[in-house]
Amino acid sequence: MPDDCPRPLDFETRQIHAGAVVDAETRARVTPIYQTAGYVFDDFDDGEDRFAGRSRYRAYSRNDNPTNAVAGRRIADLEGGVDGIVVSSGQAAIAAAINALAEAGDHILATRSLYEGTREMFRGILKRQGIAFEYVDDDATDEEWAARFRPNTKAVYTETLPNPLNQVVDIERLAGIAHAAGVPLVVDNTVPTPYLWRPIEDGADIVVHSTSKWLSGHASVIGGAVVDAGRFDWAAHADRFPQLTEPPRPGVASFVERFGAGAYLAYLRSVIVLEYGPTVPALSTFLLLHGIETLSVRMDRHVANAQAVAEWLAERPEVARVYYPGLPTDPHHTLAQKYLPLGPGSIVSIDLAGGQEAARRFLDALQLISPMTHIGDVRTLAIHLGSTIHAKLTEEERLDAGITPGLVRLSIGIESPRDIIEDLRQALEA
Ligand SMILES: *Cc1c(COP(=O)(O)O)cnc(C)c1O
Repeated sequence: MPDDCPRPLDFETRQIHAGAVVDAETRARVTPIYQTAGYVFDDFDDGEDRFAGRSRYRAYSRNDNPTNAVAGRRIADLEGGVDGIVVSSGQAAIAAAINALAEAGDHILATRSLYEGTREMFRGILKRQGIAFEYVDDDATDEEWAARFRPNTKAVYTETLPNPLNQVVDIERLAGIAHAAGVPLVVDNTVPTPYLWRPIEDGADIVVHSTSKWLSGHASVIGGAVVDAGRFDWAAHADRFPQLTEPPRPGVASFVERFGAGAYLAYLRSVIVLEYGPTVPALSTFLLLHGIETLSVRMDRHVANAQAVAEWLAERPEVARVYYPGLPTDPHHTLAQKYLPLGPGSIVSIDLAGGQEAARRFLDALQLISPMTHIGDVRTLAIHLGSTIHAKLTEEERLDAGITPGLVRLSIGIESPRDIIEDLRQALEA
């Protein structure tokens, strides 16, 4: 992207050009797949400079690869952050983002409605690492939130548009609550993508993604990303974040002193990702970049199809309830209008009146739509939640999370809406 553009470029242009560098040697237009582990040192001193981070050249692909760097910069640009990094999966992105903020003995507050894989990590491996997660109800007041913070609370964690039930989160309000308590707001923005919603504009400090979903769109890669808004004042809360504000070794300046607004992401890249090594292959990132180039075009089509399908499903006698905030009857319709003017994503969940047996007949009758776990594909996908993603929970925990026996999640693709609806019709009638 030319640095001397006369005006800021639009989203549709940046999704194609942001972060790209034309290869100096070959002048290749498309970002090449730099499938290499390492990079040759010019001489002895250059090796020393590379390790000290004083060279513009790289040392090792575990945390720094040219193909991956383009994707990190592009996603950061689209989200409105100062820096970003791509990693091996959405789960890896969440684990890295949390590990850069909290350690054993720390505490994190989270909204209750989260992707079940995230909840599994919070009550599983991260809890065993000694990080305590505490959930706050969706309808908690500001006072109830404020009362839950502790001196060792390191972040508030949420999602913009949690699936399967699409309970749009009031990000501006949560950012205010987190900042009043002196901690950053971490937001998983996988479902709307930065085309439909940029939570940094509403006050979020750190944004995480599963790039396996709509950002790539073709369902041929697993990947994740972390973006830093660069606005949180770590130095003002130095007692909470010594990893960023204190010298890592005697004689070395702190991350905040060395990297300023980019301190969090510099720490995440040069410590967390370097030490744990959740590296995404450059080939996967090449495919991800091809997906991002068409993001806006696909998302417009995803939301138009989802709206048409949701409206059609709302009229069906077999369907007890449709969860889609694009419907005026949905309880989150007003928040969706505020935060998602281009459309509230393409997850449409339905509660079948006939319960689990009806879900079994419906899923087994689908012909065009694929029964599988995944979302954000150009293809339409369907899954029964109670018997798969939420199967490890007790019946009571499932109902508590709104996972009723007849609940089926649809990830609406970009096929012809007529063909999607026709397959739904014949499966509902089965
Ligand atoms: C899928 C998903 C993840 C996990 O991403 P993977 O790439 O599958 O590891 C995290 N958050 C949300 C909202 C997701 O949909």
